[in-house]
Amino acid sequence: MAKKGELSKTARASLAQRDDRNHLTERVCAKCGERILLKELLPVKVANKGMVYYHKAHYQV
Ligand SMILES: [Zn+2]
Repeated sequence: MAKKGELSKTARASLAQRDDRNHLTERVCAKCGERILLKELLPVKVANKGMVYYHKAHYQV
């Protein structure tokens, strides 16, 4: 019984981790203006402006 509980706790933890990566953040992409998923979030520090955020795919160096 204890072992079964342990297993389901682990399964829940890995599910939570997956949900975390798919979590929609409050950050808005400076290029397309849409909110960014945590796994796609790319913070960029800009002089005099602070942090701006991009989708990883939308950031051009
Ligand atoms: Zn974007």
